[in-house]
Amino acid sequence: MKQDRWTAVDEYFQEQLAPHDDVLDATQQACAQAGLPDIAVAPNQGKLLQLLARMIDARTILEIGTLGGYSTIWLARALPDQGRLITLEADATHADVAKSNIERAGLSDRVDVRVGRALDILPTLRDEGPFDLAFIDADKVNNPHYVRWALELGRPGSVIVVDNVVRGGAVIDTGNDDPSVRGTRETVELLRAEPRLDATALQTVGGKGYDGIIIARVVS
Ligand code: SAM
Repeated sequence: MKQDRWTAVDEYFQEQLAPHDDVLDATQQACAQAGLPDIAVAPNQGKLLQLLARMIDARTILEIGTLGGYSTIWLARALPDQGRLITLEADATHADVAKSNIERAGLSDRVDVRVGRALDILPTLRDEGPFDLAFIDADKVNNPHYVRWALELGRPGSVIVVDNVVRGGAVIDTGNDDPSVRGTRETVELLRAEPRLDATALQTVGGKGYDGIIIARVVS
């Protein structure tokens, strides 16, 4: 099966089940115009995040890796009026684009973009949790740390989603020393060994190519 077929099938599902509106279109356009890399989640992946947040009635969401705020907007739309989403972004330009997109989406009242390295900011969030859902989508080498933090800042029942865990299939190559692959394998090992987390991983194909996600639940 070829990429063009995966893309066409994704477009079909997106049109039917995850349709775009003017705000999401404008967000993607603003990201492209600002020269941001094309590495945001696909529309149907954004919708999956939103559904997960709604399924658990999330009131507090932590996102690690904002880029231009595309996934942020999908997630924040799942929040009730008093809900809160904190999203962490190391790149000040990305954060500025995200803030403007979030403002256009009318979500600035519930979304807080914090600029800096996630590992520096996460220890400051202890009083702002617990977070019902964490979406981890930043530098993959640090994913084991981010999962530990999501656990620390979560509560029993919290959901943790980790994006881009297949690495083109390299995740099974034990000798691969790419830091993102190592970070992903360490994340899987952590999840296997950590009794307070219950997890699975799925391979995906679509408009964004061949990849996959981990979904975990905080057990205790
Ligand atoms: N979640 C976004 C979406 O789907 O719309 C895409 C996020 S993009 C894949 C990853 C982002 O993480 C980039 O904007 C990058 O600047 C940011 N990032 C990379 N390393 C980081 C770090 N150590 N702390 C915080 N953000 C980081």
